[in-house]
Amino acid sequence: MSMIEFRNVEKYYDEFHALIDINLTINEGEKVVLIGPSGSGKSTLIRTINGLERVHSGQLLVNGFDLADKKTDMNKIRKNVGMVFQHFNLYTNKTVLENIMIAPRLVLKRSESENKKLAMELLDSIGLADKAGNLPSQLSGGQSQRIAIARSLAMKPKCLLFDEPTSALDPEMIDDVLNVMREVAEDSSMTMLVVTHEMSFAREVADRVIFMDSGKILEDNLKEIFFDGEPTNNRARRFLSKIGKH
Ligand code: ADP
Repeated sequence: MSMIEFRNVEKYYDEFHALIDINLTINEGEKVVLIGPSGSGKSTLIRTINGLERVHSGQLLVNGFDLADKKTDMNKIRKNVGMVFQHFNLYTNKTVLENIMIAPRLVLKRSESENKKLAMELLDSIGLADKAGNLPSQLSGGQSQRIAIARSLAMKPKCLLFDEPTSALDPEMIDDVLNVMREVAEDSSMTMLVVTHEMSFAREVADRVIFMDSGKILEDNLKEIFFDGEPTNNRARRFLSKIGKH
């Protein structure tokens, strides 16, 4: 069954045409990597999926709800669709534990004991149980991003969106975050859409790779074809040769 379906979606920022006739289906459990040059619309596309950006026309079905319909309740979408940002977006005045517990408490009304137990299990699984009482300012970027992922997982979402999750990190911290993402990907039921330039991650984890340029999807192909065959699109080929395939 499809988790995300774009049908002829258009998006403008004032006069600027940011998403042009987007057609894309991502099925439940699929792991998809989205690549493309800076400014091509990757972030815009991913942000439309949990309603952070509105689409102007077409249909955008997420978990069965149409986000192009103004009447759709965004809270119903966000319960099942988590997002991990480049700059973590943790609540700076709340402890690590509280950052993880707050959404399940407010949105899912999870009991306090259950909520804490789950949060501690998540912290343990990412190797940061000892940071439960710390504030985000006391963490490194890599640790903050692992907490941000745990915070998303605490909602037990069906789908996780990652918008360049490692591009603000020092190189030595990137692997720690990618390892957590690899573990998330081991859950076969979790749908993942990841904007990243980490091609080794894409090669390992993705089922499909999507290439965007100038607001359009120019290639949507199986990973094997994208990396080991040749992308059919010229611009996708050039982009790959510039950033390196591995
Ligand atoms: P990418 O993630 O591929 O770098 P973005 O989706 O961030 O691309 O941006 C696509 C284009 O839309 C860029 O030209 C960018 O300047 C423009 N854009 C993004 N956000 C806004 C905004 N809030 N207002 C106006 N233009 C925007």
